[in-house]
Amino acid sequence: MVFLGVFFCFVFGAVTGSFLNVIIFRYQDESKSIVNPKRSFCRSCGKTIRWYDNIPILSFFILKGRCRDCGEKISKRYPLVEILTALVFVINYFVFGEVLALIGSCIIGASLIVVFFTDLDTLTISDWNSLFVLFGGVFMVWSRGTWMRDLITALVVLGVMTLMYFLSKKGIGSGDVILMSTASLALGPFNAVFSIFLASLLGIIYAIITGSNMKTKVPFGPFLAIGIYLALLTGEQVSMFLGRLYQ
Ligand SMILES: [Zn+2]
Repeated sequence: MVFLGVFFCFVFGAVTGSFLNVIIFRYQDESKSIVNPKRSFCRSCGKTIRWYDNIPILSFFILKGRCRDCGEKISKRYPLVEILTALVFVINYFVFGEVLALIGSCIIGASLIVVFFTDLDTLTISDWNSLFVLFGGVFMVWSRGTWMRDLITALVVLGVMTLMYFLSKKGIGSGDVILMSTASLALGPFNAVFSIFLASLLGIIYAIITGSNMKTKVPFGPFLAIGIYLALLTGEQVSMFLGRLYQ
């Protein structure tokens, strides 16, 4: 039974990841003003990708990372996103046993993967993505039944983040504000604070390692995406642990 659940989540995650690739590359094309209405075409030679060359994760390795027609390298990001999404879905299966919470966490996980890569590519977070994070949050709160608490959390975070947005003279992006506010519905009060803490910590570690200063434009979205997801997974344990410390 567990094996079946893991298998289903992995396959469904890989297929979802394949779809996420389309979305991620579409944002990239838009930011470069490339009009590319045809999908499932080789980005180098434009030939249609055959259905059997379009199998998530597997095709990349069968084709040894090259297009069957022109031999041009296929971006490693394709299998990476597919594997990542598959793993996120499997982890969610173990962490969120209940079906509504599982659906919600998978919607959020998938949206955060898109946020991670599009913010990296284009330095913007689409509000559509944040809306999907909110949508996933509805499922998670539905499963928990903590509507009042979590709606208030989302509104408070929206207020505080908006204030920070103006005080920091737009040092944080409006996309970050909207993402953090919509994610706060799923996160609840403790995890909302915890995820901002994690994202800032990751950002600081990254800045130290790469030696970037305040002038370097580093997207905050990837750190937020990781912070939100980690808080979603571990927040309950962390808050219980902290609670015990103060007893
Ligand atoms: Zn090609």
